[in-house]
Amino acid sequence: MHKQILTTPDGETYPILTGSGLLHTCGQEIAAVKKPCRVMIVSDSNVAPLYLDRVKASLSAAGFAVNTHVVSAGEESKSIGVLGALLESFAEAKLTRTDIAVALGGGVIGDLTGFAAGCYLRGINFVQLPTTLLSAVDASVGGKTAVNLRHGKNLAGLFHQPIGVYCDTDSLQTLHPHELADGAAEAIKTGILGDPELFAIYETGDPAAQYEEIIARSVAYKAKIVTEDPTEKGVRKLLNLGHTAAHAIERLSDFGISHGHAVAIGTAIVARASVKRGIMKNDDSARIINTLIRSGLPVVCPYGAAEMAKIAALDKKAAAANITVILPETIGKCRMESMPIAALEALFADGLEGQA
Ligand code: NAD
Ligand code: MG
Repeated sequence: MHKQILTTPDGETYPILTGSGLLHTCGQEIAAVKKPCRVMIVSDSNVAPLYLDRVKASLSAAGFAVNTHVVSAGEESKSIGVLGALLESFAEAKLTRTDIAVALGGGVIGDLTGFAAGCYLRGINFVQLPTTLLSAVDASVGGKTAVNLRHGKNLAGLFHQPIGVYCDTDSLQTLHPHELADGAAEAIKTGILGDPELFAIYETGDPAAQYEEIIARSVAYKAKIVTEDPTEKGVRKLLNLGHTAAHAIERLSDFGISHGHAVAIGTAIVARASVKRGIMKNDDSARIINTLIRSGLPVVCPYGAAEMAKIAALDKKAAAANITVILPETIGKCRMESMPIAALEALFADGLEGQA
Protein backbone atom coordinates (compact mmCIF):
# COMPACT_ATOMS: atom_id res chain seq x y z
CA MET A 1 0.00 0.00 0.00
CA HIS A 2 1.30 3.42 -0.93
CA LYS A 3 0.14 6.56 0.87
CA GLN A 4 0.61 10.17 -0.21
CA ILE A 5 -0.71 13.31 1.46
CA LEU A 6 -1.68 16.12 -0.88
CA THR A 7 -2.20 19.76 0.01
CA THR A 8 -4.96 21.67 -1.76
CA PRO A 9 -4.60 25.32 -2.83
CA ASP A 10 -6.62 26.21 0.30
CA GLY A 11 -4.06 24.50 2.50
CA GLU A 12 -6.27 21.50 3.29
CA THR A 13 -4.67 18.08 3.13
CA TYR A 14 -6.10 14.80 1.91
CA PRO A 15 -4.76 11.26 1.47
CA ILE A 16 -4.20 9.36 -1.76
CA LEU A 17 -3.91 5.62 -1.12
CA THR A 18 -2.90 3.19 -3.83
CA GLY A 19 -2.82 -0.57 -3.46
CA SER A 20 -4.51 -3.92 -3.63
CA GLY A 21 -7.90 -4.48 -1.99
CA LEU A 22 -8.86 -0.86 -1.30
CA LEU A 23 -12.41 -1.24 -2.62
CA HIS A 24 -12.97 -3.79 0.18
CA THR A 25 -11.53 -1.49 2.85
CA CYS A 26 -12.57 1.94 1.55
CA GLY A 27 -15.23 2.31 4.27
CA GLN A 28 -12.74 2.30 7.11
CA GLU A 29 -10.30 4.44 5.12
CA ILE A 30 -12.98 7.04 4.41
CA ALA A 31 -14.08 6.93 8.06
CA ALA A 32 -10.55 8.04 8.92
CA VAL A 33 -11.13 11.36 7.13
CA LYS A 34 -14.90 11.79 7.58
CA LYS A 35 -17.07 10.65 10.41
CA PRO A 36 -19.90 8.37 9.25
CA CYS A 37 -22.65 10.25 7.41
CA ARG A 38 -24.94 9.78 4.46
CA VAL A 39 -23.13 8.96 1.20
CA MET A 40 -24.15 8.85 -2.43
CA ILE A 41 -22.03 6.41 -4.41
CA VAL A 42 -22.01 7.38 -8.08
CA SER A 43 -20.92 4.77 -10.60
CA ASP A 44 -21.48 3.68 -14.20
CA SER A 45 -23.17 0.70 -15.83
CA ASN A 46 -19.87 -1.14 -16.45
CA VAL A 47 -18.27 -0.55 -13.07
CA ALA A 48 -21.32 -0.96 -10.82
CA PRO A 49 -21.90 -4.68 -11.60
CA LEU A 50 -18.22 -5.37 -10.89
CA TYR A 51 -17.50 -3.29 -7.79
CA LEU A 52 -20.53 -1.50 -6.34
CA ASP A 53 -21.49 -4.29 -3.91
CA ARG A 54 -18.11 -4.42 -2.21
CA VAL A 55 -17.96 -0.62 -1.86
CA LYS A 56 -21.50 -0.51 -0.45
CA ALA A 57 -20.69 -3.28 2.00
CA SER A 58 -17.48 -1.61 3.11
CA LEU A 59 -19.11 1.79 3.64
CA SER A 60 -22.11 0.27 5.45
CA ALA A 61 -19.85 -1.74 7.74
CA ALA A 62 -18.00 1.48 8.61
CA GLY A 63 -21.29 3.12 9.64
CA PHE A 64 -22.17 5.17 6.55
CA ALA A 65 -25.79 5.36 5.30
CA VAL A 66 -25.43 4.36 1.67
CA ASN A 67 -27.35 5.56 -1.41
CA THR A 68 -26.38 4.76 -4.99
CA HIS A 69 -26.78 6.38 -8.39
CA VAL A 70 -25.68 4.54 -11.54
CA VAL A 71 -25.36 6.31 -14.89
CA SER A 72 -24.75 4.83 -18.36
CA ALA A 73 -21.09 4.10 -19.06
CA GLY A 74 -19.44 6.46 -21.50
CA GLU A 75 -18.46 10.04 -22.15
CA GLU A 76 -22.12 10.89 -22.98
CA SER A 77 -22.81 10.81 -19.24
CA LYS A 78 -20.65 13.91 -18.77
CA SER A 79 -23.65 16.03 -19.75
CA ILE A 80 -25.78 18.75 -18.22
CA GLY A 81 -28.77 16.38 -18.34
CA VAL A 82 -27.05 13.59 -16.41
CA LEU A 83 -25.59 16.17 -13.99
CA GLY A 84 -29.11 17.53 -13.36
CA ALA A 85 -30.50 14.06 -12.66
CA LEU A 86 -27.60 13.36 -10.28
CA LEU A 87 -28.20 16.60 -8.36
CA GLU A 88 -31.91 15.70 -8.04
CA SER A 89 -30.82 12.30 -6.76
CA PHE A 90 -28.63 13.98 -4.08
CA ALA A 91 -31.67 16.02 -3.03
CA GLU A 92 -33.99 12.99 -3.12
CA ALA A 93 -31.59 11.18 -0.77
CA LYS A 94 -31.63 14.29 1.47
CA LEU A 95 -27.86 14.77 1.42
CA THR A 96 -26.90 17.70 3.64
CA ARG A 97 -23.82 19.95 3.76
CA THR A 98 -22.03 17.40 5.94
CA ASP A 99 -22.72 14.38 3.70
CA ILE A 100 -20.49 13.14 0.92
CA ALA A 101 -20.49 11.84 -2.65
CA VAL A 102 -18.28 8.93 -3.66
CA ALA A 103 -17.13 8.60 -7.27
CA LEU A 104 -16.62 4.92 -8.17
CA GLY A 105 -15.35 4.67 -11.73
CA GLY A 106 -13.12 6.27 -14.33
CA GLY A 107 -12.56 9.88 -15.28
CA VAL A 108 -16.13 10.31 -16.49
CA ILE A 109 -17.55 9.42 -13.08
CA GLY A 110 -14.88 11.44 -11.25
CA ASP A 111 -15.50 14.57 -13.33
CA LEU A 112 -19.30 14.27 -13.13
CA THR A 113 -19.43 13.47 -9.42
CA GLY A 114 -16.87 16.12 -8.52
CA PHE A 115 -18.85 18.75 -10.38
CA ALA A 116 -22.13 17.67 -8.75
CA ALA A 117 -20.51 17.68 -5.31
CA GLY A 118 -18.93 21.07 -6.01
CA CYS A 119 -22.24 22.77 -6.73
CA TYR A 120 -24.80 20.82 -4.66
CA LEU A 121 -25.67 23.05 -1.64
CA ARG A 122 -22.80 25.27 -2.86
CA GLY A 123 -20.37 22.44 -2.26
CA ILE A 124 -20.26 19.15 -0.35
CA ASN A 125 -17.26 16.89 0.11
CA PHE A 126 -16.46 14.02 -2.20
CA VAL A 127 -14.18 11.03 -2.40
CA GLN A 128 -12.64 9.41 -5.49
CA LEU A 129 -12.38 5.67 -6.02
CA PRO A 130 -10.69 5.64 -9.46
CA THR A 131 -11.07 2.36 -11.35
CA THR A 132 -9.23 3.22 -14.58
CA LEU A 133 -5.51 3.75 -14.95
CA LEU A 134 -6.24 7.12 -16.56
CA SER A 135 -8.30 8.35 -13.64
CA ALA A 136 -5.74 7.01 -11.14
CA VAL A 137 -2.71 8.66 -12.77
CA ASP A 138 -4.36 11.82 -14.01
CA ALA A 139 -8.05 12.69 -13.62
CA SER A 140 -8.37 12.07 -9.87
CA VAL A 141 -5.57 14.54 -9.03
CA GLY A 142 -5.76 18.31 -9.37
CA GLY A 143 -9.35 19.15 -8.56
CA LYS A 144 -10.62 19.80 -12.08
CA THR A 145 -14.22 18.70 -12.58
CA ALA A 146 -16.43 19.22 -15.61
CA VAL A 147 -19.19 18.13 -17.92
CA ASN A 148 -19.35 18.62 -21.68
CA LEU A 149 -21.58 21.04 -23.56
CA ARG A 150 -22.86 20.62 -27.11
CA HIS A 151 -20.19 23.15 -28.08
CA GLY A 152 -17.29 21.16 -26.70
CA LYS A 153 -15.65 19.03 -24.03
CA ASN A 154 -15.29 20.17 -20.41
CA LEU A 155 -16.82 23.59 -21.13
CA ALA A 156 -18.75 23.70 -17.84
CA GLY A 157 -16.87 22.89 -14.68
CA LEU A 158 -15.26 24.01 -11.47
CA PHE A 159 -12.28 23.32 -9.26
CA HIS A 160 -13.29 21.08 -6.36
CA GLN A 161 -10.79 18.99 -4.40
CA PRO A 162 -11.66 15.54 -3.02
CA ILE A 163 -11.17 14.71 0.68
CA GLY A 164 -9.58 11.39 -0.20
CA VAL A 165 -8.55 9.26 -3.20
CA TYR A 166 -8.41 5.47 -2.84
CA CYS A 167 -7.18 3.55 -5.85
CA ASP A 168 -7.54 -0.22 -5.74
CA THR A 169 -4.99 -1.59 -8.21
CA ASP A 170 -6.96 -4.87 -8.37
CA SER A 171 -9.71 -3.04 -10.23
CA LEU A 172 -7.36 -2.46 -13.17
CA GLN A 173 -7.47 -6.21 -13.90
CA THR A 174 -10.93 -5.90 -15.47
CA LEU A 175 -9.98 -2.92 -17.60
CA HIS A 176 -9.90 -3.32 -21.39
CA PRO A 177 -6.34 -3.14 -22.86
CA HIS A 178 -7.38 -0.08 -24.88
CA GLU A 179 -8.21 1.76 -21.64
CA LEU A 180 -4.97 0.60 -19.99
CA ALA A 181 -3.10 2.06 -22.97
CA ASP A 182 -4.97 5.37 -22.54
CA GLY A 183 -3.67 5.59 -18.98
CA ALA A 184 -0.19 4.49 -20.08
CA ALA A 185 -0.01 7.45 -22.49
CA GLU A 186 -0.45 9.93 -19.62
CA ALA A 187 1.97 8.04 -17.36
CA ILE A 188 4.62 7.95 -20.11
CA LYS A 189 4.00 11.67 -20.64
CA THR A 190 4.70 12.23 -16.95
CA GLY A 191 7.91 10.22 -17.25
CA ILE A 192 9.07 12.43 -20.13
CA LEU A 193 8.19 15.57 -18.18
CA GLY A 194 10.05 14.77 -15.03
CA ASP A 195 10.42 11.14 -13.96
CA PRO A 196 12.86 9.00 -15.99
CA GLU A 197 12.31 6.03 -13.63
CA LEU A 198 8.60 6.07 -14.38
CA PHE A 199 9.44 6.19 -18.09
CA ALA A 200 11.76 3.20 -17.61
CA ILE A 201 8.90 1.05 -16.29
CA TYR A 202 7.21 1.45 -19.65
CA GLU A 203 10.42 1.32 -21.67
CA THR A 204 11.90 -1.87 -20.26
CA GLY A 205 9.86 -2.98 -17.24
CA ASP A 206 6.62 -4.89 -16.66
CA PRO A 207 3.92 -2.24 -16.17
CA ALA A 208 1.19 -4.79 -15.39
CA ALA A 209 3.16 -5.83 -12.29
CA GLN A 210 4.01 -2.27 -11.25
CA TYR A 211 0.76 -0.32 -11.17
CA GLU A 212 1.17 0.75 -7.57
CA GLU A 213 4.50 2.38 -8.40
CA ILE A 214 3.25 3.81 -11.72
CA ILE A 215 0.27 5.45 -10.01
CA ALA A 216 2.24 6.70 -7.00
CA ARG A 217 4.91 8.28 -9.23
CA SER A 218 2.37 9.84 -11.59
CA VAL A 219 0.37 11.26 -8.70
CA ALA A 220 3.50 12.62 -7.02
CA TYR A 221 4.57 14.48 -10.16
CA LYS A 222 1.12 15.86 -10.99
CA ALA A 223 0.54 16.85 -7.36
CA LYS A 224 3.82 18.75 -7.25
CA ILE A 225 2.97 20.69 -10.41
CA VAL A 226 -0.63 21.33 -9.42
CA THR A 227 0.35 22.55 -5.95
CA GLU A 228 2.75 25.03 -7.51
CA ASP A 229 0.21 26.24 -10.05
CA PRO A 230 -3.37 25.22 -9.23
CA THR A 231 -5.06 27.27 -11.96
CA GLU A 232 -2.72 26.64 -14.90
CA LYS A 233 -1.11 30.04 -15.19
CA GLY A 234 2.45 28.65 -15.40
CA VAL A 235 4.11 25.25 -14.84
CA ARG A 236 0.82 23.32 -14.94
CA LYS A 237 0.91 23.95 -18.68
CA LEU A 238 3.70 21.33 -18.81
CA LEU A 239 1.02 18.70 -18.28
CA ASN A 240 -0.19 19.57 -21.77
CA LEU A 241 2.80 17.82 -23.37
CA GLY A 242 1.49 16.32 -26.60
CA HIS A 243 -1.97 17.73 -25.92
CA THR A 244 -2.21 20.55 -28.48
CA ALA A 245 -1.95 18.05 -31.33
CA ALA A 246 -3.97 15.49 -29.34
CA HIS A 247 -6.98 17.76 -28.95
CA ALA A 248 -6.95 18.45 -32.70
CA ILE A 249 -6.65 14.72 -33.46
CA GLU A 250 -9.55 13.87 -31.13
CA ARG A 251 -11.76 16.45 -32.83
CA LEU A 252 -10.73 15.56 -36.39
CA SER A 253 -11.59 11.92 -35.61
CA ASP A 254 -14.91 13.06 -34.12
CA PHE A 255 -13.61 11.53 -30.86
CA GLY A 256 -13.16 8.14 -32.55
CA ILE A 257 -9.52 8.32 -31.42
CA SER A 258 -9.53 8.34 -27.60
CA HIS A 259 -7.71 10.96 -25.57
CA GLY A 260 -4.79 8.77 -24.45
CA HIS A 261 -4.23 7.43 -27.95
CA ALA A 262 -4.31 10.97 -29.32
CA VAL A 263 -1.84 12.07 -26.61
CA ALA A 264 0.54 9.31 -27.75
CA ILE A 265 0.41 10.59 -31.33
CA GLY A 266 0.78 14.18 -30.08
CA THR A 267 3.78 13.20 -27.94
CA ALA A 268 5.43 11.49 -30.91
CA ILE A 269 4.82 14.67 -32.95
CA VAL A 270 6.52 17.00 -30.46
CA ALA A 271 9.37 14.51 -29.97
CA ARG A 272 10.11 14.48 -33.72
CA ALA A 273 9.69 18.26 -33.94
CA SER A 274 12.13 18.73 -31.04
CA VAL A 275 14.74 16.67 -32.87
CA LYS A 276 14.18 18.60 -36.10
CA ARG A 277 14.69 21.86 -34.19
CA GLY A 278 17.82 20.71 -32.41
CA ILE A 279 16.20 20.64 -28.97
CA MET A 280 16.41 16.87 -28.36
CA LYS A 281 18.70 14.08 -29.54
CA ASN A 282 17.31 11.66 -32.10
CA ASP A 283 18.05 8.73 -29.73
CA ASP A 284 15.73 10.13 -27.07
CA SER A 285 12.96 10.69 -29.59
CA ALA A 286 13.36 7.09 -30.81
CA ARG A 287 13.15 5.84 -27.20
CA ILE A 288 9.92 7.81 -26.68
CA ILE A 289 8.36 6.48 -29.86
CA ASN A 290 9.40 2.88 -29.18
CA THR A 291 8.06 3.05 -25.64
CA LEU A 292 4.69 4.33 -26.84
CA ILE A 293 4.57 1.49 -29.40
CA ARG A 294 5.55 -1.06 -26.71
CA SER A 295 2.56 0.14 -24.69
CA GLY A 296 0.16 -0.54 -27.54
CA LEU A 297 -0.17 3.12 -28.50
CA PRO A 298 -0.20 4.74 -31.95
CA VAL A 299 2.56 7.14 -33.08
CA VAL A 300 1.51 7.84 -36.66
CA CYS A 301 -0.87 10.72 -37.27
CA PRO A 302 -3.66 10.20 -39.80
CA TYR A 303 -4.13 13.97 -40.28
CA GLY A 304 -2.14 16.74 -41.94
CA ALA A 305 -0.40 19.68 -40.27
CA ALA A 306 -2.68 22.32 -41.80
CA GLU A 307 -5.98 20.75 -40.72
CA MET A 308 -4.65 20.13 -37.20
CA ALA A 309 -3.36 23.68 -36.85
CA LYS A 310 -6.72 25.03 -37.96
CA ILE A 311 -8.54 23.02 -35.28
CA ALA A 312 -5.95 23.90 -32.62
CA ALA A 313 -6.55 27.60 -33.28
CA LEU A 314 -10.19 27.08 -32.30
CA ASP A 315 -9.24 25.31 -29.05
CA LYS A 316 -10.37 27.15 -25.91
CA LYS A 317 -6.83 26.98 -24.54
CA ALA A 318 -5.63 28.98 -27.53
CA ALA A 319 -7.93 31.95 -27.08
CA ALA A 320 -5.00 34.40 -27.10
CA ALA A 321 -2.82 35.02 -30.15
CA ASN A 322 0.00 33.01 -28.56
CA ILE A 323 -0.01 29.37 -27.51
CA THR A 324 2.33 27.59 -25.11
CA VAL A 325 3.77 24.45 -26.63
CA ILE A 326 5.69 21.88 -24.58
CA LEU A 327 8.81 20.51 -26.23
CA PRO A 328 10.85 17.61 -24.80
CA GLU A 329 14.59 18.20 -24.31
CA THR A 330 15.53 14.87 -22.72
CA ILE A 331 13.57 12.07 -21.08
CA GLY A 332 12.77 13.80 -17.81
CA LYS A 333 12.96 17.43 -18.95
CA CYS A 334 10.73 19.55 -21.17
CA ARG A 335 10.53 23.24 -21.97
CA MET A 336 7.59 25.57 -22.42
CA GLU A 337 7.70 27.67 -25.55
CA SER A 338 5.23 30.41 -26.32
CA MET A 339 4.60 30.82 -30.04
CA PRO A 340 2.07 32.56 -32.25
CA ILE A 341 -0.78 30.27 -33.25
CA ALA A 342 0.29 30.89 -36.83
CA ALA A 343 3.57 29.01 -36.09
CA LEU A 344 1.76 25.80 -35.08
CA GLU A 345 1.37 24.45 -38.58
CA ALA A 346 5.14 24.49 -39.13
CA LEU A 347 5.69 22.77 -35.78
CA PHE A 348 3.19 20.02 -36.61
CA ALA A 349 4.75 19.66 -40.07
CA ASP A 350 8.17 19.12 -38.43
CA GLY A 351 6.58 16.53 -36.15
CA LEU A 352 4.92 14.64 -38.99
CA GLU A 353 8.10 14.45 -41.04
CA GLY A 354 9.69 11.03 -40.97
CA GLN A 355 6.80 9.22 -39.31
CA ALA A 356 6.46 5.65 -40.61
P1 NAD B 1 -14.26 6.36 -18.42
O1 NAD B 1 -14.60 6.82 -17.07
O2 NAD B 1 -15.30 6.50 -19.48
O3 NAD B 1 -13.78 4.85 -18.35
C1 NAD B 1 -13.44 4.17 -19.54
C2 NAD B 1 -14.28 2.90 -19.71
O4 NAD B 1 -13.85 1.92 -18.78
C3 NAD B 1 -15.77 3.09 -19.43
O5 NAD B 1 -16.50 2.30 -20.34
C4 NAD B 1 -15.94 2.54 -18.02
O6 NAD B 1 -17.24 2.08 -17.78
C5 NAD B 1 -14.94 1.42 -18.02
N1 NAD B 1 -14.37 1.05 -16.74
C6 NAD B 1 -13.97 1.88 -15.75
N2 NAD B 1 -13.34 1.21 -14.78
C7 NAD B 1 -13.36 -0.09 -15.15
C8 NAD B 1 -12.85 -1.28 -14.57
N3 NAD B 1 -12.13 -1.27 -13.45
N4 NAD B 1 -13.06 -2.45 -15.22
C9 NAD B 1 -13.73 -2.47 -16.41
N5 NAD B 1 -14.20 -1.39 -17.01
C10 NAD B 1 -14.03 -0.20 -16.39
O7 NAD B 1 -12.97 7.13 -18.98
P2 NAD B 1 -11.50 7.38 -18.42
O8 NAD B 1 -10.61 7.00 -19.54
O9 NAD B 1 -11.28 6.81 -17.08
O10 NAD B 1 -11.50 8.95 -18.25
C11 NAD B 1 -11.77 9.82 -19.33
C12 NAD B 1 -12.47 11.03 -18.81
O11 NAD B 1 -11.66 11.64 -17.83
C13 NAD B 1 -12.73 12.08 -19.87
O12 NAD B 1 -14.04 12.57 -19.75
C14 NAD B 1 -11.72 13.17 -19.56
O13 NAD B 1 -12.18 14.45 -19.92
C15 NAD B 1 -11.58 13.04 -18.08
N6 NAD B 1 -10.31 13.54 -17.55
C16 NAD B 1 -10.34 14.44 -16.53
C17 NAD B 1 -9.16 14.94 -16.00
C18 NAD B 1 -9.20 15.89 -14.86
O14 NAD B 1 -8.17 16.46 -14.51
N7 NAD B 1 -10.33 16.07 -14.21
C19 NAD B 1 -7.92 14.51 -16.51
C20 NAD B 1 -7.92 13.59 -17.54
C21 NAD B 1 -9.12 13.11 -18.06
MG1 MG C 1 -4.69 14.44 -20.81
